[in-house]
Amino acid sequence: MQKAMAEDAPVNIIMIGMAGSGKTTLLQRLNAHLHEQKTPPYVVNLDPAVTKLPFQANIDIRDTVDYKQVMKEYNLGPNGGILTSLNLFTTKLDQVMGIVEKRAQSNKYFLFDTPGQIEIFTWSASGAIITNTLAATYPTVVVYVVDTPRTANPATFMSNMMYACSIMYKTQLPFLVAFNKVDVVSHEFAVNWMEDFEAFQQALRQDDECFMNSLMNSMSLVLDEFYCHLRVVGVSAMTGQGIGEFFEKIGEPMEKKREEDRGKKEAQVERLMKDLSVTEGKEVDLTGEK
Ligand code: GDP
Ligand code: MG
Repeated sequence: MQKAMAEDAPVNIIMIGMAGSGKTTLLQRLNAHLHEQKTPPYVVNLDPAVTKLPFQANIDIRDTVDYKQVMKEYNLGPNGGILTSLNLFTTKLDQVMGIVEKRAQSNKYFLFDTPGQIEIFTWSASGAIITNTLAATYPTVVVYVVDTPRTANPATFMSNMMYACSIMYKTQLPFLVAFNKVDVVSHEFAVNWMEDFEAFQQALRQDDECFMNSLMNSMSLVLDEFYCHLRVVGVSAMTGQGIGEFFEKIGEPMEKKREEDRGKKEAQVERLMKDLSVTEGKEVDLTGEK
């Protein structure tokens, strides 16, 4: 559930994406941009297995759990180790939220980095608990980071978009797709495929290696509906290209939500007035006297 939004409420931004898509690097770019704007964010690292962070996290899961120790203690492989670490961290989430709420006055943005392996966060109970708790506290946007050069093949593009689609429907949160690494390959092809169904069909037909063409064709029909609701932006975490537009796009769903809240409030007041039967020339008797 998304919380109704105070005009000056901070915004949570959760980075989600395939391993290597550039979540951590993009988070650092946003962090640097916000520092330049004199609105430093509050940064939370939820990746227990990361060895080196390019930013100083205000809250770091690695301070709470030792991922290597967890693997040893519970006799787990790398993925089980990350998942168990995330579960252990989630048991302390109330403390984290206490800190976050205290910081809401001084920080406009809260940035959350998630584990490299996408499924650990998106399909685990802990990931859902963290996401839902954040969304119930402050307006929350999911940023789905895409490795643009690695998704230039139509079949890969489609499976990546299917994943994005499933996360958007699962979280039910405002959603922004950030096509990252546009310093290497522009995201124009992706926008074209999303806007022009025929162009994507043609790309599929030209892809000799795509042996599942008929399946792809039917799936692309499903995705067409999904694309209508999607906000996209091309960025480079490396060069900083597109970061201004990124923040504009983050603001859009927030403004939309504010308008919805305003509308709801007005409707509530109207209903209340009606219930009190405040009509012209008629005094309301609140004493209950007969
Ligand atoms: P994560 O696993 O999603 O957190 O990905 P990382 O942030 O660790 O980045 C994975 C790799 O992609 C690193 O080698 C980064 O230097 C590289 N990378 C990230 N963003 C960009 C970008 O915008 N352009 C280029 N050229 N490389 C990038
Ligand atoms: Mg990372």
